[in-house]
Formats: sequence, structure tokens, C-alpha cells
Amino acid sequence: MYDLIIIGLGPAGINAGIYALRSKLNVLLIEKQTPGGKLNSISKIDNYLGSIDLTGPELATNFYKQIRALKPEIKLEEVIDVKIKDDFKEVTTNSGTYNSKAVIIASGSGQKKLKGFEAMQSISYCALCDANLYEGKDVILIGNNFKAVEEAKYLSKIVNKLYFVYEGSAIDLKLDNVEIIYDEEVKDIKLENNLIKEVILKNRRLKSDGLFVSLGSGPATYFVKNLGITDEKGYITVNEKQETNISGIYACGDIVKKDVYQIINAASEGAIAAVNAGKYVRNQSR
Ligand SMILES: Cc1cc2nc3c(=O)[nH]c(=O)nc-3n(C[C@H](O)[C@H](O)[C@H](O)COP(=O)(O)OP(=O)(O)OC[C@H]3O[C@@H](n4cnc5c(N)ncnc54)[C@H](O)[C@@H]3O)c2cc1C
Repeated sequence: MYDLIIIGLGPAGINAGIYALRSKLNVLLIEKQTPGGKLNSISKIDNYLGSIDLTGPELATNFYKQIRALKPEIKLEEVIDVKIKDDFKEVTTNSGTYNSKAVIIASGSGQKKLKGFEAMQSISYCALCDANLYEGKDVILIGNNFKAVEEAKYLSKIVNKLYFVYEGSAIDLKLDNVEIIYDEEVKDIKLENNLIKEVILKNRRLKSDGLFVSLGSGPATYFVKNLGITDEKGYITVNEKQETNISGIYACGDIVKKDVYQIINAASEGAIAAVNAGKYVRNQSR
């Protein structure tokens, strides 16, 4: 049993981890991609105290070096569920299940997941990253915005046939190997050996080798949607202690509803969450 599990290693999660590790809590850090979070994709950092002429990846590397020096236990896994048990929390990832007394959610924002299939690992949320895996194959793209249209154009150059399921009003896109499908929704997805085989829509079935999703971005709270700690847009609401309405569960950073989304307040909220999670854990152990 861990004292504390921190989900997400962007600025909020890393700073929460630094405070928790320095206060000698038994901590597990879980990150699904690259420590540093969004910093890894920012070309130049502005407005962060003490960072002059730093790129995002440079600042991310500094943050990561700082926490690594505290010898943390880090698992590179994706959290897919958090459950409340009698006197502990159960965190499930794509590779295992871990128990802890308290949890800090610091998962930031990211690609919106396909509703009902949030935990499915076979879906790609990055056409640019994964298109080459589907060269000459038939794939489906589900999208609802300008970026999705750009991704459809990109995919059409690589794949054999693209079914573009568009959630929105008619778009002006005419490409020989692209069929645009409107007014549909995904009902089921059939897999074989964890690979996409068929997508069942409301009115038709599509055989496919791959499924891409591009539905814009939003708070990455798909794995806590059953806990009742999010608002109608998926943001987590907290009090001044970064505590959610479930005791022992804290949230910090871009995942939290607020006015200003910057590194400095993500890091600050991480510190506040860790201090209060520490108090909670120590009270529990008495
Ligand atoms: C283009 C751009 C430029 C920006 N420039 C600046 C700037 O110059 N100055 C500034 O102060 N702010 C800037 N920001 C804002 C800043 O990047 C964010 O406020 C900050 O990164 C938020 O930190 P965070 O830790 O809350 O979330 P994130 O940085 O998003 O980190 C969240 C982490 O959680 C991980 N995660 C998500 N889901 C899971 C899961 N299920 N399981 C495990 N891990 C998970 C993610 O992989 C990620 O590593 C910029 C943002 C953007 C998009």
C-alpha cells in the first residue's frame, strides 16, 4: 500500500511529487507518456519565473532531473480507473492495479477520448504519429473540427481508403479515397488480437485496420468520470486545499477549473495538494 499515488507528471504532478517525496511519504508516480507533460511540446517558455530563454523540453528536463534526484518510484503506464475502497483508493492502469491512502490527480488536458471507449489502447489519437503504421490499409477517422479535416488530408496520402466519420455540419473535402460519413456514432468496436477489425456505427458497419480519433482537447479526466468529482466539461472542482469532494483525492494543474492555466499555478497547486495529502495520510495512520 502506497501513502500516495500521483497521476501525471507535468509541472503539477512533478512538483507535487517533489514535496511528497521530501516529506518522506511512500509515493508512486504514474505517467502515461513523457515526464514534463505539455512542456515537451512548447518551443519557448514565457512567464515562468526564473526561466530565461528556455525551451519547453529544457524546462521539462530540469523538472525531471530535480525529481529523479529524490529517487522516486515511477511507472510509465496509463491510468484507466480510480476506485474508492473502504479506507484506501485503488488505481488501475493498463498494466496493473495499485493501492494507496491518497491520490493526487495531475493529468492536465489532452486529446478528448472516444466516449465509451476511453480505455481502449488500440485507438490512435495522433494521425501524424501513427499514420505510417497503416500504409495501404483501410482506416476510419472520427473527427469534429478543423484539425480533424487536416488529419484526414494527411491520412489520405498514406492509407488505401479512409472513412471519415464527421460529427458536424457538411465540410468541403473531396478526395478520391476518402468517404465522408455524417450523422453517425460509434456503437461498438470489434478487435482481434487487440487490433481494430470492425467499427459498428448506428446505421452501418465498417471493416477497418485502424481507428483514429480527433475530437479536440479537454481535461484528461476520463479515468475518474464515475467518481462525481468533475463538472459538466470534465474539469475537477477543488477547495483551497486542492481537495476534491472525496476525502483523500486531490487535484492540481490544468485539470482543475480556474481562470489562468500556466506552469506557475500548476506547480503551486501541486505543492498545496502534496502538503494536504501528506496531512491526510498522517491523520489516517494515527
Ligand atoms: C502551446 C502551449 C504553450 C504554452 N506556453 C506556456 C508558457 O510559455 N508559460 C506557461 O506558464 N504556460 C504555458 N502553457 C501552459 C502550460 O503548459 C500548462 O499550464 C502546464 O503544462 C500544466 O501542467 P499540468 O501538470 O497541469 O498538465 P500537463 O503539462 O498537461 O501534464 C499532464 C501529464 O499527465 C499525463 N497524463 C494524462 N492522462 C494520464 C493518465 N490517464 N495516466 C497517466 N498519466 C496521464 C500526461 O501525459 C502529462 O504528462 C502553454 C500551453 C500550451 C498548450
